[in-house]
Amino acid sequence: MSDTNEAPAAAQDYPADLMDKLVSLCKRRGFIFQSSEIYGGVGAVYDYGPLGVELKQNVRAAWWEEMVHRRDDVEGVDAGILMHPDVWVASGHVEGFTDPLVECRNCHRRFREDLLESDQCPSCGMKGQFTEARQFNLMFKTFMGAVEDSTAVVYLRPETAQGIFVNFRNVLDSSRQKIPFGIAQVGKAFRNEITPGNFTFRTREFEQMEMQFFVEPGTDEAWFETWRDRRVAWVKSLGIREDRLRLHPHGPDELAHYAKDAVDLEYLLPFGWKEFEGIHNRTDFDLMAHQAKSGKKLEYVEAHSGKRFVPYVIETSIGLDRLVLVLLANAYYEEEVEGESRVVLRLHPKLAPIKAAVFPLVKKDGMPELAREIEEDLRRSMTVFYDESGSIGRRYRRQDEAGTPFCITVDGQTVEDGTVTVRDRDTLEQVRVPAGELRTYLQERLAGADS
Ligand code: ATP
Repeated sequence: MSDTNEAPAAAQDYPADLMDKLVSLCKRRGFIFQSSEIYGGVGAVYDYGPLGVELKQNVRAAWWEEMVHRRDDVEGVDAGILMHPDVWVASGHVEGFTDPLVECRNCHRRFREDLLESDQCPSCGMKGQFTEARQFNLMFKTFMGAVEDSTAVVYLRPETAQGIFVNFRNVLDSSRQKIPFGIAQVGKAFRNEITPGNFTFRTREFEQMEMQFFVEPGTDEAWFETWRDRRVAWVKSLGIREDRLRLHPHGPDELAHYAKDAVDLEYLLPFGWKEFEGIHNRTDFDLMAHQAKSGKKLEYVEAHSGKRFVPYVIETSIGLDRLVLVLLANAYYEEEVEGESRVVLRLHPKLAPIKAAVFPLVKKDGMPELAREIEEDLRRSMTVFYDESGSIGRRYRRQDEAGTPFCITVDGQTVEDGTVTVRDRDTLEQVRVPAGELRTYLQERLAGADS
């Protein structure tokens, strides 16, 4: 899919230069850093900082809860990144996981031919200087064992799905699942992308959250629709704006060779409508291919009828890093509040890296001590940040930018009657709550946001 779509008018409600602002916010506040920055960085790899790792972990946990814990028909696995090289022969990746690559004869930069809009080099501006396209395999290669020759080549997995297919029998034999059932996995994937870019949208190392649902052939079309609808409902439940969400069903010319049907969930990022999740009907392509290559039977035998078949697979595949970027763009707002401008990340409370910040109004009169006690108590059930520096307004702004749903202030009245103020990030409403009831109060508000 093209990365150069023009942003339609509906993207106009983004603040100007949103991507630059997001990149700078992410660095300033410790969400996302460029990898190996002190060495000048390494292309299209990113590191998550203290707030970013919490956000990412919360998104991962929300997906796992939705796809595994809340379902009795999906099991989880965690397969190795390195796999037998024949896996990638059977899956078609050694032969076919390629992009058409052209090189500019003038500046020698390389580009993906299918992402170019004209014959003009995006780097040096020269026209008509591209070489013929050459197929470039996206898999990273390395060597296993002591000898670095062609017999020792292994690949860093370019997708997590194959770790699920090769474990189909293991999970079937060790769990009590019957068809239809699914296997879910979250893990790193690596692609030597030629034209990475747009911050963490297209990177060379990323995490995927994938689920393969094994069904009886003939029931696959209905299951495809069921999973499409479930996935749409889930992303909406995270607060994804509906006017920036759309489905893109693949036409016959867009379908991958193994797919009978496919639909992308797309989000309107500042640089256009972009896929962040794919739902695919992969038929029996993968299990058949692994059965043929490995010589091991990968069919299912129905207990009551003795019927045998190789299951069809409905796959849901979402990039964790790409979803985090979508959620950040979705949450970012610039507003005027009480005559001052603020940047606020309206992240869903369950995804917010810090749930509550605790401030003493001033650094005296016993307020810091009381605030520290409250902080310690809250830490038993949520992520908390303590801050006593700067004006209270500045402290609120810092938490708004980090997406913290609640700010708790200990003031003069706390010393007298034991109540604190709780300020809501989105409504700015402040209520007084007895300090002794605060933890339960916040837990209820956080749970309420998730119902
Ligand atoms: P694209 O067309 O953007 O290259 P794809 O169709 O190859 O993506 P899939 O192979 O279907 O993507 O991967 C499923 C999901 O994994 C994507 O929807 C995306 O969220 C994520 N993903 C794929 N490639 C990357 C990448 N290079 N960086 C970050 N996330 C990625």
